[in-house]
Amino acid sequence: MVPQWIIEKKRDGLALAADEIRFFIGGYATGKIPDYQMAALAMAVYFKGMTSDEIAALTDAMMRSGKVLDTSSICLPKIDKHSTGGIGDKVSLILAPLVACCGIAVPMISGRGLGITGGTLDKLESIPGYRTDLSIREWLHVLRKCGCSIIGQTAQIAPADKKLYALRDVTGTVPSIPLISASIMSKKLAEGLDSLVLDVTWGAGAFMKSCADARKLARTMVEIGRRAGKGMAAVITDMNQPLGHAVGNAVEIIETVETLKGHGPGDLVDVTLELGAQMLILGKRARNRKEALAILRRHLVSGAAFIKFKEMVCLHGGSVAALDNVRKLTQAKIREEYLAQRGGYVAGVDANLIGKACVVLGAGRRKVDDSIDHAVGITGLVKIGDSIDKGSPLLVLHANDRQKMKEAEVLLAHAFVISPAKKMAPRLIVGII
Ligand code: URA
Repeated sequence: MVPQWIIEKKRDGLALAADEIRFFIGGYATGKIPDYQMAALAMAVYFKGMTSDEIAALTDAMMRSGKVLDTSSICLPKIDKHSTGGIGDKVSLILAPLVACCGIAVPMISGRGLGITGGTLDKLESIPGYRTDLSIREWLHVLRKCGCSIIGQTAQIAPADKKLYALRDVTGTVPSIPLISASIMSKKLAEGLDSLVLDVTWGAGAFMKSCADARKLARTMVEIGRRAGKGMAAVITDMNQPLGHAVGNAVEIIETVETLKGHGPGDLVDVTLELGAQMLILGKRARNRKEALAILRRHLVSGAAFIKFKEMVCLHGGSVAALDNVRKLTQAKIREEYLAQRGGYVAGVDANLIGKACVVLGAGRRKVDDSIDHAVGITGLVKIGDSIDKGSPLLVLHANDRQKMKEAEVLLAHAFVISPAKKMAPRLIVGII
């Protein structure tokens, strides 16, 4: 096969055969096909799209570029959740132990924050001692012991995707539904799961800026998973405003602990329970959504999920004392309220600008190898529908550098819409597939 003929075929809008896709991805993973040809094919896919057969073949080829984990030593149903990303999204940290309390193993491989979206691994690493780099053997040990384990991507899983994702990042080919779907699903299918639940976000703080695109992405990924024999569900959620009241790393761990103690913000709890309900149904731990929600609420309110979270953190080498007394977590030197310039009702909180303000403070990365400041971020963030007086706080800034705080404030000046009339909070869960 000749790489340029395959590129030309896609350029002209024709469907590629599975063996052509396998040849191309295999060649790229082993260095026989250079970046410039892979970039050309990615751009052709960006413009011409792919059929579901092509996307399934692409996912399979990327998955097979690495190891497919063997989790057969774990007898429970193995179900993970994946989010397409958001601001203030600490759902995984609550969901994994909560679902593990219900007799499901949650083998979770998470990512770091990049751009405006936060990363579960960065949040976990603000707990002193927590290791996100367990070997696969250690990861399986933790899973067997407590039913959930959250680690980072290993070099063995879908290496072709790792290479291709970095290339897409610098060639303007990230926002393509076939490429995003194959990228996410190749990694998830390599985890040795029985089922997967997707949280597909849409809005200012999400990859997908329109709800219609989020639905399309969700349907595409659900189809890939089902074709691979996995139980699949997707929940489409609103990410126009951040989730919860805290955005950052250590500050999100504090909100996680509050939620696991049964005092979480309504939106965060609702999304977590909805995703958990889908996991329980797929794992046959509940007959329907109503029963699943009741089981999950019981484990949240009883404190069982918090105990499970501490068990997982301890097995990862993390400090349980810092969860029992969150003042032991890293704290920023400066804490300052950001005040409303006028009174009224909060009608908009731009998740994109809030995310950017947190990156400026140092809570996120601009480049993959940037280091981050775990202490900085935002707490006490108002929500759409809240009433606010002139001069009262819209949020609290946690900073370690006055200059960075000033830069963040410039962004925050455009992040809020305050209107005289009350606006209802947007629908958080907009669909289930
Ligand atoms: N996350 C991924 O893992 N891949 C994409 O292409 C986009 C988001």
